[in-house]
Amino acid sequence: MSATSSMMTEQDWARAVEILDGAGQVCLACHVRPDADALGSMLAFAQALTSGRNRSVIASFGDAPFEVPANLRFLAGTALLTPPSRFPVRPEIMVSFDAGSIDRLGALTEPAASAGELIVLDHHASNTRFGTVNLVDPSAAATAVLTADLIDRLRIPVTKDIAVGLYAGLVTDTGSFKFSSTTPEVLQLAARLLSTGIDPGFVSRELYDRAPFSYLHMLAAALGRATLEPESAGGLGLVWTTVTQADRQRAGSLSLDAAESVIDIVRRSDEAEVAVVLKEDDNGTWQVSARAKFVVDVGAACTALGGGGHARAAGFAFPGGAGAAAALDALRPLLDQP
Ligand code: MN
Repeated sequence: MSATSSMMTEQDWARAVEILDGAGQVCLACHVRPDADALGSMLAFAQALTSGRNRSVIASFGDAPFEVPANLRFLAGTALLTPPSRFPVRPEIMVSFDAGSIDRLGALTEPAASAGELIVLDHHASNTRFGTVNLVDPSAAATAVLTADLIDRLRIPVTKDIAVGLYAGLVTDTGSFKFSSTTPEVLQLAARLLSTGIDPGFVSRELYDRAPFSYLHMLAAALGRATLEPESAGGLGLVWTTVTQADRQRAGSLSLDAAESVIDIVRRSDEAEVAVVLKEDDNGTWQVSARAKFVVDVGAACTALGGGGHARAAGFAFPGGAGAAAALDALRPLLDQP
């Protein structure tokens, strides 16, 4: 498939605008265990839809228990969130944010499958195009970029409260504007969002630069176990570690979100092309994050194991019961790419 044939067309955008312009109620969903791009984009869009016009919005994500991750509680518009149990079983019009496949919607998978119209906004290369309208662009730095585009096409002005969600998505998915996805267009959008008056220092601090003191002990435990395998990933090197339930409990019952940032330290290792962190969630399932630097397509590897993501940042879930070693054994051969 060529890069262009996988992208949405002007007709797709026009169709989405037509559906949303005529809508009375719009139901919004983002992927489970939302990150800032998923939740920020959805909350930005929820606020955009409810500004001015007489449109009602239901916004949710399919987690049980339903809880906004601690580091995202600063986002504007969280009061618009509804638990998935109160989401319509058969929504007339639904929009999905940052989900590469329908099952990433968790408890909202069924409503999405039954929706009259389902507009999918996403930038994962692994996206399965599960909507009736697919606004999917793997070259977009974040779903927030596509969301901003759609808000513009609906001719809705971007307020400060809308901007903060979009900006949080941009910051997160570009690694705080450090990744190669940080194009001139990305910085132009960021500048436009900042001009609404949001404070980038506040957003960064809330997203990344704060944790309870006990986080340091969880980090120490995880980093103390880090293992380097120079022969893995086709000889380019693999570095990996685990964050167990016990690590989080010993550190004062930290939530799984607190373990998200461990990969950003582990992946610094010069000797490894690929970094992997296996996080044991509250049900004992291993939530595996994988990062690559230059050549290995961890997105393809994780997709093969039922997960998904981008070429250099991806993840999958591996059943509990089997140890972390079993999850690594499944992943290792998929990293030996040409
Ligand atoms: Mn994203």
